[in-house]
Parts: sequence; C-alpha cells; structure tokens
Amino acid sequence: MKLSLNTATVKKQWTLAQAIDGCARHGIRGISPWRDKLAEMGLKKAVAAIKANDLTVTGLCRGGFFTAKDWLDDNRRAIEEAHELEADCLVLVVGGLPEGSKDLIKARERIKESISIILPEARAAGVPLAIEPLHPMQAAERACINTLEQALDVCDALGEGIGVAVDVYHVWWDPKLEEQIRRAGRKRILGYHICDWLVPTRDLLNDRGMMGDGIIDLKRLRSWVESAGYAGFHEVEIFSELDWWQRDADEVLKVCKDRFATVT
Ligand code: ZN
Repeated sequence: MKLSLNTATVKKQWTLAQAIDGCARHGIRGISPWRDKLAEMGLKKAVAAIKANDLTVTGLCRGGFFTAKDWLDDNRRAIEEAHELEADCLVLVVGGLPEGSKDLIKARERIKESISIILPEARAAGVPLAIEPLHPMQAAERACINTLEQALDVCDALGEGIGVAVDVYHVWWDPKLEEQIRRAGRKRILGYHICDWLVPTRDLLNDRGMMGDGIIDLKRLRSWVESAGYAGFHEVEIFSELDWWQRDADEVLKVCKDRFATVT
C-alpha cells in the first residue's frame, strides 16, 4: 500500500513522534513531515525514529517563500533537513506577492531566480526540489505559481534536479491538467498529494475534504499520474479545522486508509 501521511492531516492532534508511531501502527509506510513539527522533535531524533520504523519520507514540507526576507537561509536549512531525512523531495511553496507589491510578473521572475540560486545546492545534497503549484486563490499570499504548466516551464528553464508535486486540491480544476501531467512525466512528478474539494468550501486554507467527500474525480486523476509513469506514494494532505483536526487521530488514519483503498 503506497500510502503516505502528510503530518498536516493530524497536526492539531499529534506531534511528529506520535505521527511516526501512528503510521507504523496503521501500516502506513510513508510520511511527509512539516518543518515546525520537525524542529519541535529535533532533526536527529526524527531521523532515528523514521529509520527505526522503516518509513519512506515522501517529502519535506516545505521550502520556498522566495519573496520573504530570510528566504535564502531558510531554504538552505530546509535542503539540509531534507538531506538528513533522505526525503524523496523538498516541497516548494514558492511564495506570493511581496508585501505592498502588486507586481505579479516581477514576483514570478524573482521566484525563478531564487530557485536557480538554491538548485545547485539541492543537487549537491541529493535533494530533488518539487514545485507545488497552488490554487490561484492563494496567489497573493502563498504561491504565485498556480498551474502545472507554469511550474513545468520553470523546470524546463532550470534543468536537472527539479520537478513538481501534484496536489489534487490545487490543480483539479485545470483544463490542461491531463496534458501537463503527461508533459511532467515519471521523472518530474516527485509527489502526488490527495484529499478532496468540498462544496461549499468554508475556508480558503483549512477546509480540505477527505477523499470521497468532495467533487474531485480522484480515480481519473490517479489514472493520469500513473499513465505518466508515476509509481510513488500517494500522500494524504488534509487541512481541516472544522472536521478532521477535531477527530481522534487514529480514526483519521483509519478513514484515510479505507478511502485510499476505495475511492482513489
Ligand atoms: Zn500538497
């Protein structure tokens, strides 16, 4: 079962140590930690616990935010952490508009330049960088790379060592999705994140649905990434203030496994 738990899914309930134990207990073989939880646990301890349970780190969340002031040091630290964790990739949430700016074109240029600065360091550390395009509703604050096509254009321009994380929540609506997944191909799809889009969506950031509870055609999207040659983990990433963060975390993991088997 190639299921991975993005720790954001149980971030209100569990520390990273608990999430590692939980994955092991439920037979979930992959984990994708967030860096705040990693810092709280301590990198060395986390590496040891993940190794002891033989989990695959399907991604480290996250680097990026290239339009923020301390972006370079922070991304260097993230690359180092991903290296220590032997993560499949470092996920990049690239950042939105700099404060006070309305210049989206310039922000996008700056992001591309910034990635080109850290990419050689990531290559040297053996850490693939995964640009995660975010839904356009988050262009101002979190990421102004919003489609797979845009992300792949950046990858094309920068060469080896960089690809994409395909998160169904962010890209399901894109009319070019199938062709862009094909364009990405096996080599550049570094992660596949699953959840669902609820109708109505009550919060722009923290109202993701469990697979099967929304309107994303998950089986079709899965067939596209698999046709492109992706054979990696399917990472459940659910930010859910009103629902899943309120539940018992063991129950959440059980439902994740069940839905993964039946609706994705
Ligand atoms: Zn994601």
